[in-house]
Amino acid sequence: MKIEFDLGKINPDSKKFENQLLRKNIKNAIDIYAAKLPEVYRGLDNDVLDNVTIHIVDASNSDDYGQEAFTKRIKLDNSEFIIAISQFNGQTDIYELLAHELCHISQFLTGMIDDRVGNDSVIWKGEVFVLSSIPPQKRPWEKDAIKNQLKLYGTHPDINRFQK
Ligand SMILES: [Zn+2]
Repeated sequence: MKIEFDLGKINPDSKKFENQLLRKNIKNAIDIYAAKLPEVYRGLDNDVLDNVTIHIVDASNSDDYGQEAFTKRIKLDNSEFIIAISQFNGQTDIYELLAHELCHISQFLTGMIDDRVGNDSVIWKGEVFVLSSIPPQKRPWEKDAIKNQLKLYGTHPDINRFQK
C-alpha cells in the first residue's frame, strides 16, 4: 500500500500530518496491517494491496462528520482511497481507527461492498442497503470491520504505547 498525506485536505489549515514521526508511525502501522490483511480477508493478495494508494486526510474541523474516521473510495478500480481522520485524541487511538478503516478498504477490494448505487445506498454482499434507514451500529459492514479491526490492531508491536 502506498500512503500519501497531501491530497485534498478537508481541513486546509491542518498541520496534523506535518509531523514526520506521526507520518512514519502511520505508515509503519499500515504496513504491519497490510501484511496481515490476506489472512483476515480471504481473496485479498499482496499484489492487489501493493497497487492501492491511501490518502490520509485530516477532517478534524469538519462539522459534517460525526464519525472519528471514515473511508471513501475515490477510484472505481479500487486503486485509490481516502481515509479521513476527524479525531486524534478521542476515545479510539489513531492506530485502531486505521485498522478499522483498512477493513473497509478490504471490503471494497474483495467486492464485499460496493458504493456504485448512489449516495444513500451501498451493496453489501449482493444486498442493497439504504444508509438513511439503517443506523451505523446496525450496518453489517460496520459489524464486520469492528470484528476484524482487532485482528489487525492486535498485531501492532507498539500496542501498549498506544493504549489509552
Ligand atoms: Zn466503519
